[in-house]
Amino acid sequence: MGIEEKLPSGVLLTTVEGVAGYFRKASFWPATFGLACCAIEMMTSGGPKYDLARFGMEVFRASPRQADLMIVAGRVSQKMAPVLRQIYDQMPGPKYVLAMGVCASSGGMFNNYAIVQGVDHVVPVDMYLPGCPPRPEMLIDAILKLHDQVQHTKLGAHRQAEIAELETSALQA
Ligand code: SF4
Repeated sequence: MGIEEKLPSGVLLTTVEGVAGYFRKASFWPATFGLACCAIEMMTSGGPKYDLARFGMEVFRASPRQADLMIVAGRVSQKMAPVLRQIYDQMPGPKYVLAMGVCASSGGMFNNYAIVQGVDHVVPVDMYLPGCPPRPEMLIDAILKLHDQVQHTKLGAHRQAEIAELETSALQA
């Protein structure tokens, strides 16, 4: 009798998913993507006082091909939107997006023709963080909540959602 038959149904898969989730959440590589004033707080989060290194993610990558987390730190202008989408498309999956601050989340006070009214019009957002600007403690709290989300997502589920989103945006283009 194999070990699968001795154990309760699904226990092996659950354990593998748990271990994979633990390592995935502990090895986020954020893309360098500061757009406005919120970026100052994001940069502060990586400094010695707030020490993002505690959570395995102090290395902001200059290349999207080496990053799996996009922190949209600031308002997104209409001209920047296609660039942001291209950077997102260049990131390998599974990948995550955190909208940092009210401007990235909803356009904020910039309710005008020049600013995208929420970055979720351009890329799928996994976590919204309110504030103007959110303090580094708030950013770290949002990242830890995203860690929880990543750890408890079934293996492959997030990637499937990304592929579905890609197909939808290709149809709309
Ligand atoms: Fe600047 Fe506030 Fe907008 Fe952040 S939310 S980009 S701090 S205006």
